Amino acid sequence: MTEKILIVEDEPKLAALLADYMKASGFEVFTLSDGIQVEVWVRENKPNLIILDIMLPGRDGMEICKNIRFFSRIPIIMVTARVEEIDRLLGLELGADDYICKPFSPREVVARVKAVLRRVRDGQAIQAQGLVLDEHTYRATLHGQDLELTAVEFKLLQLLVEHSGRIFSRQQIMEKIYHEERFVSDRTVDSHIKKLRRKIETVAPQTTLIQSVYSVGYKFEPSP
Ligand code: CA
Repeated sequence: MTEKILIVEDEPKLAALLADYMKASGFEVFTLSDGIQVEVWVRENKPNLIILDIMLPGRDGMEICKNIRFFSRIPIIMVTARVEEIDRLLGLELGADDYICKPFSPREVVARVKAVLRRVRDGQAIQAQGLVLDEHTYRATLHGQDLELTAVEFKLLQLLVEHSGRIFSRQQIMEKIYHEERFVSDRTVDSHIKKLRRKIETVAPQTTLIQSVYSVGYKFEPSP
């Protein structure tokens, strides 16, 4: 399957040059020049990787990257015009997978794209009890059926599954899952757990994968 690469770059010549190199390497390439279009396009077209310039008209690359991370783990390579900016970018923890500095050689960009894609392919999906969690698409299936989780539900399930058997208090869950959201209470956690259980039961009736531990919290453990 041909991998789809989205190039977000407002300098037409540079975008065209990069696109040519990517196509020559066997990728299917799309380009956007305005930052405001990117998030909607990504939701609809689900590219395999994004090369994202920071200085863009409409919306800057940093904000776009942050926004995309709310709904997808798709690999993002950020492009900046200033080498000294990279340290600051790393500190911001935008969730980008790599950074490239302008001016760059298109050959180097192709190499980086391939390296990031390889890393993603090697990172295996998490599997447990018939569950498969793909953190790059936030897609979770149970016995092959899509659970249709929201990003928050996915992260919650991922946290519990990755530490199977370990009990998490509501406070710990809040700290790990909802750090971007402002209004969270114990009840938010309970409500997400409830929805998650319902979705699991829809696919596999009478299956309880998430256990409540009275007055402590929750853990991932199949019922005996
Ligand atoms: Ca630019």
